[in-house]
Amino acid sequence: MLELKDIEKRLSAIPDPEIPVITIKELGVLREVTKVDNKLIIRITPTYSGCPAMDRFYSDIEDVVKELNIENYQIQMQYDPPWTTDWMTKKAKQKLKAFGIAPPEYKTSDKNAVLGAPSIVVCPKCSSTNTELVSPFGSTACKALYRCKSCLEPFDYFKCI
Ligand SMILES: [Zn+2]
Repeated sequence: MLELKDIEKRLSAIPDPEIPVITIKELGVLREVTKVDNKLIIRITPTYSGCPAMDRFYSDIEDVVKELNIENYQIQMQYDPPWTTDWMTKKAKQKLKAFGIAPPEYKTSDKNAVLGAPSIVVCPKCSSTNTELVSPFGSTACKALYRCKSCLEPFDYFKCI
């Protein structure tokens, strides 16, 4: 059997099904990989209740575990504390921007974040702050659709949750 740190490394490298440039580790979904009585325990936190990506996280993790020939394992959902965009690493936010998605601007403690859409969203393409909300729901429920008034490009904004 592989070393725990090697297993964790493999699991940490699983890309987000919606934004393949980010891994589930960088996204903050993969919480912990441990071993209890020789059983591999993988704890994940859903990003968003009802987020369709969650089933994919689950099956992608199972695929890797099976690839590693690990039979004794359990994937546990951890709902407390709930996932927030604050768990996303700085690197992940930079990758989001490079991918054309505006990363979350505010800490979830910010009052604006509760409303799901902060007043200022920076365009990931030209860095202009002259942007407008087009739709509170973008390509997925986790994102909002914005348009940049400077370069006229539409883009997704990853909502603060
Ligand atoms: Zn722009």
